[in-house]
Amino acid sequence: MATEKWVVVGRKECDLINQQVELREQRVYPTADFLRQFAAPYRVRACLCTAAVECNMAGIACKWAFNAPDTDRF
Ligand code: SF4
Repeated sequence: MATEKWVVVGRKECDLINQQVELREQRVYPTADFLRQFAAPYRVRACLCTAAVECNMAGIACKWAFNAPDTDRF
């Protein structure tokens, strides 16, 4: 078993939509003690901006809107 948690890793005012947004990681932590000794403390399963859906639907090119992998606006 593992434990999942969303963690805020960044905040900014995004000029493209004039909103305060957050970058969040979905982290997976091992629960078994023996795994903690050998593995990284957690693995990142997903990372997204809180405005990802709005920007994607509006056609704003951004890595965090899942439509422009080489354009990081965060
Ligand atoms: S998805 Fe990209 S463009 Fe949209 S608010 Fe987040 S950082 Fe800005």
